[in-house]
Amino acid sequence: MRVLIGGGSGFVGRELTRLLRHKGHEVTVISRQPGPGKITWAELESHGLPPCDGAVNLAGENLMNPLRWWNESYKKDLFSSRIDTTKSMAQAIAASSSPPHSWVLVSGVGKCPDNTTCDLLPVLSRITSAVTLMTFLVSPAACYKPSLTAEYTEDSEWTPFDVLSQLVKEWEASALLPEGVTKNTKQVVIRSGAVLGRDGGAMKQMLLPFWLGLGGTLGSGAQPFPWIHVSDLAGIIAKSLEPPAAPPPPSPQVLNGVAPALSTNLEFTKELGRVLRRPTVLPVPGFVMNAVMGSERAVVLLQGQKVVPKRTQEAGFVYTYPDLTSALKEIVGS
Ligand code: NDP
Repeated sequence: MRVLIGGGSGFVGRELTRLLRHKGHEVTVISRQPGPGKITWAELESHGLPPCDGAVNLAGENLMNPLRWWNESYKKDLFSSRIDTTKSMAQAIAASSSPPHSWVLVSGVGKCPDNTTCDLLPVLSRITSAVTLMTFLVSPAACYKPSLTAEYTEDSEWTPFDVLSQLVKEWEASALLPEGVTKNTKQVVIRSGAVLGRDGGAMKQMLLPFWLGLGGTLGSGAQPFPWIHVSDLAGIIAKSLEPPAAPPPPSPQVLNGVAPALSTNLEFTKELGRVLRRPTVLPVPGFVMNAVMGSERAVVLLQGQKVVPKRTQEAGFVYTYPDLTSALKEIVGS
């Protein structure tokens, strides 16, 4: 199979490329930079879709970019880097005389809940461990409203409630193919949790401070923390890229790209400390968050969502790292 990966040079894309090549597939990456095995977005727009059997978009400005301050220009880039690239691929697929049999978008957002939160990061980082904040910077699946009790499956209804859930709405809408094309092309949207792996995402930032004993929970720690190991996310994408067994439905199939274990911030923090054999005794109490940020703002960092991969499991995907212990042991040990 020939697979085209928008943003394939990134953290998830590198893992997916490794997996697909290992299975004997050919990979072409769409990138802002030309290079071997790559085409640029400008080439996609001017020459159209290269021959491919499957396509996936993983491109997007990094929400944890430490060099970018949260402001209007950054927010604009977060939107356009996702929506414009997704639209370009969807349009190229729609215009192709031989469209791929599968088109996959990975959504769910690395969540920095709102601008007020991020403006306060430098202040917070002085009084907290960088570790805990990084955990929340990638708190994902922003389309599902934070709740301690609600469990969200792929069937759960949701409407945008903040800037990043609005981003998810527009991002997923930009992937939709016109009716005629959907007869031939299966559409899949994977809503990812925080992606855990040694080579990128949150773990890359967290391992050193945790190793130094600076890890700790945020607030009560009871807030859910949906996550997935990068190998499992790559596996779900690869499975979604397989040809459909029957004529594809006109609407995209949504899969929650999270591990089946429902974990909280406390469980994640304690387990990472345990696996690293380091203390995690520096919690950031809710009242400190409230004092620094104001309770209405702090509440956003002190909440999360329980996301259940119901359809992902019904579709037969078998997780290699279904729980935190196995995932963190692999990451720390590798
Ligand atoms: P990366 O941050 O590694 O970025 C992926 C690629 O996007 C980069 O390699 C880059 O490719 C391209 N890119 C970066 N900035 C821009 C820009 N301004 N315009 C166009 N392209 C850009 O992402 P991940 O691999 O971690 O994640 C893949 C997707 O999954 C992203 O859309 C992300 O939002 C989503 N996701 C990730 C989570 C995580 O925890 N990592 C959690 C939930 C969702 P190049 O430089 O070659 O152009």
